[in-house]
Amino acid sequence: MDRKEKNRLKKYLLLQRDLGFDEFYFPESSRPRCNTTVKRLGIDNFEESESIEQLEATIKRCKRCSLGKTRTSFVFGVGNPDADIMFIGEAPGRDEDLQGIPFVGRAGKLLDKMLAEIGLNRNEVFIANILKCRPPNNRDPEQEEVDHCLPYLIKQIKLIKPKAICSLGRIAAQRILQTNMALGAMRGRWFDYHGIKFMVTYHPAAILRSNSYLPGALEDLKRLAKSVDSIKTGQE
Ligand code: URA
Repeated sequence: MDRKEKNRLKKYLLLQRDLGFDEFYFPESSRPRCNTTVKRLGIDNFEESESIEQLEATIKRCKRCSLGKTRTSFVFGVGNPDADIMFIGEAPGRDEDLQGIPFVGRAGKLLDKMLAEIGLNRNEVFIANILKCRPPNNRDPEQEEVDHCLPYLIKQIKLIKPKAICSLGRIAAQRILQTNMALGAMRGRWFDYHGIKFMVTYHPAAILRSNSYLPGALEDLKRLAKSVDSIKTGQE
């Protein structure tokens, strides 16, 4: 069921509730079939995943690095598996580790507001991180952790096939583009990531530390949205 159908169904159910109905009867023959089990591959074969759901089912018990022992949750990523735009951060923090969802703490709330400025919400885009598990005390990701985890993100990108990727902060961009460029040198330009437009903006946590970054970040997101619109209307 796609988002439009879900919204239509929700409206219908709310109307029925307002009319006083609190039960529905579906004859067996017309009951929707819910296929909730997703075939899990062996983790070494995660590359063979054919959908985001299958990938998540396959990798969510990962223990390839030590973060697998200290995490509360494996934070796979959230959003639309057919998203036009992917946002990629660094690693889950405390709130994300507790809830299993990326960008739900203070930085995440700010990201939600920034998305609203370009007319989007987190269900329309896909949000993920370089690392799926929280590094203790939010330290920077270590190379060994990135080596194990980045292939999962790359597979997510291959399945989602976004039109554009926005790195939230320097670290995600450096790891994905395999560069040591400074944020200032990366911001404001487009990179090509295997045919996908790739840009970098300030990490929302940095904006929380210094509000002076906010206008620049909003400009970046507007440029991102405009570029994706141009791709969709065939003007690019
Ligand atoms: N910072 C990140 O980079 N990712 C999150 O999910 C939360 C905070």
